Amino acid sequence: MALMSAMPQELSCILERLDAKPLQLGSRTYWQAQWMGQSVVAVLSRIGKVAAATTTASLIEHFGATQVVFSGVAGSLDQRVQVGDVVIATELLQHDMDASPLFPRYEIPLTNKSCFLTDQSLSLELKRAASQCLQEVRANMQLHGLWDQLGVQAKDICLHEGLILSGDQFISSAKISSELKLNQPSALAVEMECAAVAQVCDDFGVPFAAVRIISDNANDSAHMDFEKFIQTVAAPYGAHVIETFVKNRSIT
Ligand code: SAH
Repeated sequence: MALMSAMPQELSCILERLDAKPLQLGSRTYWQAQWMGQSVVAVLSRIGKVAAATTTASLIEHFGATQVVFSGVAGSLDQRVQVGDVVIATELLQHDMDASPLFPRYEIPLTNKSCFLTDQSLSLELKRAASQCLQEVRANMQLHGLWDQLGVQAKDICLHEGLILSGDQFISSAKISSELKLNQPSALAVEMECAAVAQVCDDFGVPFAAVRIISDNANDSAHMDFEKFIQTVAAPYGAHVIETFVKNRSIT
C-alpha cells in the first residue's frame, strides 16, 4: 500500500509513526516500512499535478504499489464544508483542463473522462477511519483546546464525501472559487494533486482513495494562519486518520 502527501508537514507526521527505510529515486525519497503488519511505502509527492502524477507512476511501476491513499489539506468550495472538516473524495476532476473545442471542457483528452472515481471499498475504509478519529477529536478536550485556539469549533467538525477539484493553482480568491463552484456545483473542495493521482491510478488500474482536511475557504479572507493550521492541526489529524486506517486493516 502506498501513502502519499504533498506537503512536508503532512508526510513527516506519518513518518514519525513508522520505522521506515528511505530509498531515493529521482528527486523523491520513498520510505518503505512494515506498519502494524502491513507493507507500506510513503512518499512526499510535492505540490501540484505533475509532481503528484510522476510520483504515483513511480509508486506503481517501481514499488509495485497495488493501492494508493492520499492525505492532505484542501480549500472548501461549499458552504456546508467548514475549516477542520474532513472530505473523502468519491470523484476527482482537473478544473484547469480545457482542450476545447477539440474536446469538451474538463475532459482529459483521449480518455472520454472528466471525472475519475475513487475506489469504493478503499474509500469506505478511509471513511470509517476518519469517522473514528472525528469522534475521538470531539471527545478529547485536550485536542479541543488546540482546535479552538485556531478558531475551529472541534465539536462542529463534520465528515463529507463527494467531488474534489484539482488544479495547478492555489485558490485564494472568492471570485475564482465562486467560478469553480458555478462550473462544478457539486464540488466540495479544491486542492492541487488528487485528480492527477486518480488519473494515473486509472491508467494502471490501481485502486485509489483520498482524504482531505479543510484548511481554508479558498477565498481572500484568511481564516487563520494556513501554515500554523497545517502544522498543529491538519497534519497530525491527517496522520491519525491514516494510522487508524492501517490499524483497522491489521485487525481484520
Ligand atoms: N503557502 C503554502 C502553499 C501550499 S500550496 C506553501 O508555500 O507551502 C497548498 C497545498 O495545500 C497544496 O498541496 C494543495 O493541494 C492544498 N490546498 C489547500 N488549500 C488549497 C486551496 N485553497 N487551493 C488549492 N490548493 C489548496
